[in-house]
Amino acid sequence: MNVTDPKARKLHIVTHGCQMNVYDSARMADVLAPLGYAPVDTPEAADMVIMNTCHIRERAAEKVFSALGRLRDLKDATGGEMMIAVTGCVAQAEGEIILKRAPYVDLVVGPQAYHRLPELIAQVHRAKKSVIDTDFPVAPKFDFLPDAAAPQGVIANLTIQEGCDKFCSFCVVPYTRGAEASRPAASVLAEARRMVAQGAREIVLLGQNVNAYHGEAPDGGSWDLARLLYALAEIPGVSRLRYTTSHPSDMTEALILAHRDNPRLMPFLHLPVQSGSDKILSAMNRKHKADDFRRIVARLREVRPDMAFTSDFIIGHPGETDADFAATMALVRETGFALAYSFNYSPRPGTPAAGLAQIPEEVKNARLYELQAELRRQQDAFNAATVGLSTPVLFTGLGRHAGQLAGRSLYAQPVVVDCPTALTGEIHQVKITHANPNSLLGILEKKELIAA
Ligand code: SF4
Repeated sequence: MNVTDPKARKLHIVTHGCQMNVYDSARMADVLAPLGYAPVDTPEAADMVIMNTCHIRERAAEKVFSALGRLRDLKDATGGEMMIAVTGCVAQAEGEIILKRAPYVDLVVGPQAYHRLPELIAQVHRAKKSVIDTDFPVAPKFDFLPDAAAPQGVIANLTIQEGCDKFCSFCVVPYTRGAEASRPAASVLAEARRMVAQGAREIVLLGQNVNAYHGEAPDGGSWDLARLLYALAEIPGVSRLRYTTSHPSDMTEALILAHRDNPRLMPFLHLPVQSGSDKILSAMNRKHKADDFRRIVARLREVRPDMAFTSDFIIGHPGETDADFAATMALVRETGFALAYSFNYSPRPGTPAAGLAQIPEEVKNARLYELQAELRRQQDAFNAATVGLSTPVLFTGLGRHAGQLAGRSLYAQPVVVDCPTALTGEIHQVKITHANPNSLLGILEKKELIAA
């Protein structure tokens, strides 16, 4: 790495996985900015490359190692000067193995240690050898990270909770992100105010188990997510609020009623159910039954009739029979989703279900195909049902083509309208004229501003 001109350091971050990782990547850039690191778009132009990894998808670790192989060539081309760091869940899960298999990696840093990056980089320079930090400190990293520096735009992600205590059989999060930790409410509110000052109008609260939020209240007590959402709604300039990802066991009545009583909270919820079979939910250690999910959906629709739902499904968990899969399909047909994500189960080393007898790939594939066909049909129907309706759209910026604006519906659907005037950050009524598979087209109905 070029240490002769500290003001000219260049940083490239490759981000895999969820919105939490996107948020963490931005915070790592913030942590490194005082050291003179400025972001660049390509690894070729960088003095330091961070691979912020995700462990959820199949063969995640193998994909990281093949990407690292490509970075090694770049590092060799700089005479070994370029610094390579691996962060995120693969860093946490694989730790020392990364340094054994890819000794040219300089830093392996788990998600709880990002605030220590400057110190770890200094250690690499001092010791002239690789450094690893995958400890789970007692105090959560929220307390140490600097305030977000770069504006995120009209829609801003704000991490309020990290880690998980639920130990679902297929999931690495409790092992890679540690125990549930909630950020103090005052710190969340302060960051939200900063985001609004930087142009944010929609704030998406993030957490691996976000509705388990129980942060320290400004008066020293404790706030749950519902209470936090009411406080955020009072910040002038906050027009829309969302939160993800939730667990059915933590959908309290207070949170359900917030969807009725908090005008800023969108009628849209990502609530992973994973399976419609109680036997498989129990094998997954999900701690809820299929009927619990049904009750939550029904109750939310009762208090907020325009509520729509997205979910996650894992197909082919060990032990899943044709009857179990049929129960999943039944639940999907009953519920009617706006969107859902579905994957074949794949064993994660170190997780409880990894050692069980596996379902043959062809069986999993056939089931997944059937499920995804139904989910696609539901998504198309949901989007098609918006055609002809007038709906409030939050404009986020320019569209891809000249004279177009892009925005988001109440249900986070991308909406494109022809409009010569920039309306970024404003909410206007749009009549939807056409539904594509992943976006809507519309015309600006009223110039009248709903919110800014
Ligand atoms: S609740 Fe979510 S984050 Fe926690 S173990 Fe289960 S799947 Fe993983």
